[in-house]
Order: sequence, then C-alpha cells, then structure tokens
Amino acid sequence: MEPARYSSVPLTFYRPASSGSRPARAAERASSPAARPARKEFVRRRGDRSQVVRRSVQAGFLLLNLWIGARFYLFVRYYESGGGTVFASRPPGVEGYLPIAGLMNLKYFLGTGTIPVVHPAALVLLLAFLGMAFAFRKAFCSWLCPVGTVSEWLWQGGREMFGRTWVMPRWLDLPLRGLKYLVLGLFLWAVLGMSAQAIQAFMESPYGIIADVKMLNFFRHLGQTGAVVLLALAAWSVLVKNPWCRYLCPYGALLGLVSLPSPAAIRRSPEACIDCAKCAKACPSLLPVDQLIAVRSAECTGCLECVAACPAAGALDLSAAGRRLTARAVAWGLAAILTGMVGAAIVTGHWHSQVPEHLYFDLVPRANSFAHPR
Ligand code: SF4
Ligand code: SF4
Repeated sequence: MEPARYSSVPLTFYRPASSGSRPARAAERASSPAARPARKEFVRRRGDRSQVVRRSVQAGFLLLNLWIGARFYLFVRYYESGGGTVFASRPPGVEGYLPIAGLMNLKYFLGTGTIPVVHPAALVLLLAFLGMAFAFRKAFCSWLCPVGTVSEWLWQGGREMFGRTWVMPRWLDLPLRGLKYLVLGLFLWAVLGMSAQAIQAFMESPYGIIADVKMLNFFRHLGQTGAVVLLALAAWSVLVKNPWCRYLCPYGALLGLVSLPSPAAIRRSPEACIDCAKCAKACPSLLPVDQLIAVRSAECTGCLECVAACPAAGALDLSAAGRRLTARAVAWGLAAILTGMVGAAIVTGHWHSQVPEHLYFDLVPRANSFAHPR
C-alpha cells in the first residue's frame, strides 16, 4: 500500500504491517491486545555528530567555491582590461558550474576515447559527482553543492522566522517533481544528438571556449528578469524546503537516477525501531522513512538528518554491504573521490583547458557578443 506521506520513485520494501498507515496500525493495536506486539526494549542512541560533520563539509566546500569564484573574477578582469589588473590564473574548478559542457565532453570521450582539451575539468568533476552519487546516494546535493547549502540555510532561516516550513500540496508536488527530469531529458536529448565532431566544433568555438566567462557575466550583469526570478526562488526557498533541488535542478535529477542502484541506503531495523516517526519528520526530502525498511528513493540525499533525529540505538543507519557508514566515513569517501579524480586529472594533464593566452585576450572582452552556435 502506498504510504500516506510523499513517496518518490521508487519507494521499496514497505513495512509488511497488516494495515499500512501508522494511525491504522495504532488503532489496530489498541482494539486488539492479541495484535499488540511484544514491548520493545528501547536503547537510547548516544549523541549523534553527523550534522556537525556534514555542516562543516558544506561550509568548507562553500568557502572553496567562493575562492574559485573570486579567483575566476580576477582572471576575467585581467583579460577584460587588456592585462591592466592583477593577474590570477584560471581555476579549473569553475568548470563544475558547466554541467552541460561536462555532459558533452563525456559523450565525446565515450565516442572517441579522447579527453577534450577545452573544459576537461567539467568532465572530471561530472564523473566525480556521478561516482559520489553511486557510492553515497545524492550526497553531492546535501554535502557539497553550494546551491544546496544556501537553500538549506534559507529554509532553516524561514523555520526560525515563522516557526515552520510549508509543504506543497500533493497534487502540485508530484508534477513539479517531474520538471527536473523533463529539463534533464531535454539536455540529454540535445547532447546525445550531437556527433563527436559537432561537440568538438562547439567546444572550440568562441562561445564554447568562454562559456564560463558568459556564465559569470550573466550574474555580474543580472537583468531585471533574472533578478526577479532569483528573488522569487529565494523567497520560495524560505517557505518550502529546497524547492530548487526538489523541483528544478537537472543535475540533481541526474545524480538521483545514478544513485538508484547504489549499495548505500538508509536502512531501518523494525526490531529496534520504536515507531516514533521522528526520522520522517526530520527528512528534508519528505520521505516516509519510518514506513520503509530501506530508503531507495532518488530523492534521498544521504544527509543523515533522519539518523540524527532517531532516538533508538540500532534503529536507523546509512549502510552498504552490511556495514554501517558513519558521517565521517561519508565525508572521507566524498573527499577521496573528489581528490582522487582531480589528482589523477592533474597528473595526466587533463585538468587545465588548453587555450592559448592570446585567445583569452581576444575573446574575454567581447564575451557578450558571442551567440550560441547553431
Ligand atoms: S533525512 Fe534520511 S531519508 Fe531523508 S534525504 Fe536525508 S538521508 Fe535520505
Ligand atoms: S526515528 Fe524512525 S527509525 Fe528511529 S525509532 Fe523513530 S520511527 Fe524508528
């Protein structure tokens, strides 16, 4: 039976209870002593530090992104001014913000066996984030993504201000959740339809070479429409938990799909669980954790909020292949995947874009004049 609260694709391993919903089970137990299960021994969980660890990782990665942004700004200003300002080398990490370039380069790499010379870091970072999704579910979203971090701060601020957050009505929530898959589908359709030659021509065109500069310019010279959209998104994020991630982000949609076969999952032990539902209440993705044996939803971000809220020792954990994964293990695992991929790319010479300096001098000042090639 479908649980009463939000479910998402795919919710599996439902509790084999007789009547399904929590109120129905409670009523059944009250009316029939025979149906009442033997009283469980409650062992209180010792202090959980998972959210301290996760928030420290979030803050550290946000600082890293701010440093990348500041450095990239100095890089752009140097070429815009014809070499008249302080020089900063281009931080390849900025290509983490070019997921479409990452997808195009992945298609090119799979088709030719060659790593492209323009925006190779976009491919390296995409592969790292996909690897994280397989290993630790959509942990990129709740542990690393700066948009996810700011989004979380916004709804936590909203909860402080209003004493609560709101949930979109189910009739709207379900179709809205499909939006991110629709956007992802459009991107995949466009990229998969390109030949390796077309991808190379795009990447080595002026537009492709300075796609990152155009992205920076979009935010530097934000128009009225852009500002209104950003403000509306921010206001929505104050009232509702993570609407950008839940409804609109195609990157999150892709990571969610890759996380589906992950061996890691939040698992609940019905023997130790005391049916308090604190896990479900704490879940920012609104998953009915208390009614599942294993959370295999594409919406689970591995944030461990449910584990932190659970009062019963041994009732709820993130685990893979029978082994419990602590927050520290997740943090070290994410760091290992990221540094391993970036380190390998640096050592093999596939981290920096191979663009001659004279091209930057020529293209960066004229960045806004280049239209998307057809
Ligand atoms: S609270 Fe638990 S079930 Fe919900 S998204 Fe986080 S890890 Fe997944
Ligand atoms: S928080 Fe969830 S898993 Fe933990 S005891 Fe309560 S219902 Fe069970």
